[in-house]
Amino acid sequence: MAGPRKIASFRLPPLPTIGEVIKLYNLRAEKQLSQNFLLDMRLTDKIVRQAGSLRDAHVCEVGPGPGGLTRSILNAGAADLLVVEKDNRFIPGLKLLSEAAPGKLRVVHGDILTYRMDRGFPDVITKAWEDDPPDLHIIGNLPFSVSTPLIIKWLENISNRTGPFVYGRTRLTLTFQKEVAERLTASTASRQRSRLSIMAQYLCTVKSCFTIPGRAFIPKPEVDVGVVHFTPLAQPQIQQPFKLVEKVVRNVFQFRRKRCLKGIQMLFPEAQRPELAEVMMREADVDPTLRPTELSIPDFRALADAYSHLCSENQGLLTYDFREELRLKHLHRRPGSCSNGTQQP
Ligand code: SAM
Repeated sequence: MAGPRKIASFRLPPLPTIGEVIKLYNLRAEKQLSQNFLLDMRLTDKIVRQAGSLRDAHVCEVGPGPGGLTRSILNAGAADLLVVEKDNRFIPGLKLLSEAAPGKLRVVHGDILTYRMDRGFPDVITKAWEDDPPDLHIIGNLPFSVSTPLIIKWLENISNRTGPFVYGRTRLTLTFQKEVAERLTASTASRQRSRLSIMAQYLCTVKSCFTIPGRAFIPKPEVDVGVVHFTPLAQPQIQQPFKLVEKVVRNVFQFRRKRCLKGIQMLFPEAQRPELAEVMMREADVDPTLRPTELSIPDFRALADAYSHLCSENQGLLTYDFREELRLKHLHRRPGSCSNGTQQP
């Protein structure tokens, strides 16, 4: 009788350490590309564990650099790992790693902000949005310089089900400056509650995993780093278009120490400001005296719904920007300017 079948598990063959790879290829960290490397495999393994089981999974790693996190992802059993790296100095080292893991590692020299991830993986992995998440994960020790624009872009992709989210509710495990990680996960009334908290939490379950002290990186950054896990929600908590939600949230938080009414008023042209702001607050049934940080996601849902309703009744409101109105007003007030804003000779 045949014995119990052993589960095949992949381990990378012996390789030079990441420190040796850095020396071998002379990979001095470039400050411009926010390069802070993780050399401790226990830490990279710990980041990878936050993603859940990667056995036979598809993974995209952002900014693999010298490849520490990349090795941990491969050792966790990923079947297909696509890495996107902007700095070409890392490509030879990553190709060497790819040879050590035949058929498992695809190396792309490119910019994650423009890379078309919707074309990076086979269609067969796609799951319906309401279904469980697909077996595709995005993992990255992100460059600080791109982490905030990148997460905003991916949140918009989640709301439109585009980019990495054409495959379904793709999960993300990413590092951020600790302060940004705290903002992403901040709950109602906490000091760190901000625009980023609302935008992330209305679309995802956002979990703060652990903090990595700055001294764990080479070179040491000025700040500590937070690992955050995102699972897109099957049903977003706000049903309005991303840009509309972003506009309402941005306006509310621009006066974060004042009552929320102050920011809401700026959504409306000066002439109708008090009247329309009052209608919006009444329709949303939100207490106008609350501070922006005290508003819950259901409060923001009610505000976004009320604003959308007002936009459908008032042409041009959606594109109204109080800064533009202010700019034109200043222009008209300047001595020597005409009423149409042009300068007199
Ligand atoms: N993953 C490596 C580690 O943990 O040691 C390196 C992390 S380092 C903080 C960030 C990496 O992202 C660098 O390798 C850098 O070259 C790369 N990078 C920076 N901007 C990028 C971009 N727009 N697209 C892709 N990679 C980028």
